[in-house]
Amino acid sequence: MTATERTRVVVVGAGFAGLNVVASLRGAPVDVTLVDQRNYHTFQPLLYQVATAALDAGDVAHQVRDVLRTNLNARFVLGRVVGIDLDARHVALADGDQLPYDHLVVAPGAVYHDFGIPGVREHAYVLKSAAEALALRAHVLKRFEEAARDPDAVDAGLLNVVIVGAGPTGVEMAGALVELFEHGMRSDFPELDVGRARVILLEALDTVMPPYTEATRAYVGKVLRARGVDVRLGAVVEEVTEDRVRLKDGSEIAYGTLVWAAGVRAHPLAEALGVELGRSGRVPVADDLSLPERPGVWIAGDLAGPVGAPPLDGGEGAYPQVAQVAIQQGKHVAYGIRAHLAGHPSRPFRYADRGQMAIVGRSAGVAELSPAWGGFRFTGLLGWLAWLFVHLIYLPGHQNRLRAFLGWAWEWVTYDRHARLILEPIDRDLDRAGPPPPRGTLGA
Ligand SMILES: Cc1cc2nc3c(=O)[nH]c(=O)nc-3n(C[C@H](O)[C@H](O)[C@H](O)COP(=O)(O)OP(=O)(O)OC[C@H]3O[C@@H](n4cnc5c(N)ncnc54)[C@H](O)[C@@H]3O)c2cc1C
Repeated sequence: MTATERTRVVVVGAGFAGLNVVASLRGAPVDVTLVDQRNYHTFQPLLYQVATAALDAGDVAHQVRDVLRTNLNARFVLGRVVGIDLDARHVALADGDQLPYDHLVVAPGAVYHDFGIPGVREHAYVLKSAAEALALRAHVLKRFEEAARDPDAVDAGLLNVVIVGAGPTGVEMAGALVELFEHGMRSDFPELDVGRARVILLEALDTVMPPYTEATRAYVGKVLRARGVDVRLGAVVEEVTEDRVRLKDGSEIAYGTLVWAAGVRAHPLAEALGVELGRSGRVPVADDLSLPERPGVWIAGDLAGPVGAPPLDGGEGAYPQVAQVAIQQGKHVAYGIRAHLAGHPSRPFRYADRGQMAIVGRSAGVAELSPAWGGFRFTGLLGWLAWLFVHLIYLPGHQNRLRAFLGWAWEWVTYDRHARLILEPIDRDLDRAGPPPPRGTLGA
């Protein structure tokens, strides 16, 4: 780099961590390149609302270029990073392009972990992107259409939704699905006995929502069961076939839709860093979030592993893989880069834990504030309102916030989950002129 050239910062991933790195470098004397495989940031905590027809995909996804509009030192590159050359100091994109860097922030998040269980990858839906949430929504709605034509198939489990994993994602999904069935599907399908549609929540441990206090877990279990979710604890999945989940105890559950929410592991891009990885493939980092012995390389968000921090997840000293950690780490990495430019030493990262929250369904939320925030615990309507408020604050984009708020208000008043659309990848046979259909099939 010559004296007149500016420092090049490449940020991989426009998630919670990556976006906060870029925002916190606003005005710094650097040229930032943010690269993501999608042109939008996904607000993952609300994806289940897209999958259950409460929100539209556009409400929870925000185009990155819009976020960068006021960041004059940042540009966006749409591309998938497939390699990182730490010696040559560039990242490689799937299309063959390379992005050279002086500082690199690796923040591609996590991917779902199937723990090597046969059939999960092929048959289960996951919630990770807006596209996947739409595919899951389409699948559930199509199952109802199929059942309307062939009600006997309901006996074979066509309307069973099996959710594996009773952490916050599985619990929120289960709670929202029973509401969709009760208030959306019941009126859409008068010809069907919608009461036979089941939501079965499987958890290998002996409790729902493991990271929460016992009182909260008891509340969540009670509300889910009262609303009709079939909660099965100690249920260890061993194999998945096209239409059945087989458990360790030998029993089988027929399903029409399978949702995998049983855990994540770090993004496989971690392997490109050539370091020994921690539990769940996470990258061990120095206490300032830099990659040890690789000056100018930083790790943030779900990918970052042990940081010499207290063992908050009961494990090896890594922080929990949640949005607050990613946001704070993104900001911290930006300060680290600024410190480096100014010739100052970097500071260790300290997570300011504010607590955790989730909702089980209409008017039923749980919020546990951290001791630093008073240690208060809310359940029910108060927890639900706290959840709404916090999610509205953090959802990026004024329009998204307004749309989400209006969507929730509409649903609150009418019980209507408005986005009950089966949107699928394009079908070339549907909207384009093609060969004429066989005689007698049109207007016959
Ligand atoms: C369904 C779901 C619900 C959740 N609910 C909550 C919740 O209620 N509260 C909470 O605190 N946390 C929740 N989380 C966790 C939270 O979303 C994550 O901890 C957070 O998103 C991590 O931020 P990140 O920046 O590390 O990664 P992400 O936000 O996942 O962003 C990673 C980005 O990298 C991009 N990327 C990935 N690979 C590549 C590549 N090869 N090339 C280019 N770009 C790439 C992705 O497209 C993505 O934009 C939830 C997660 C999920 C999946």
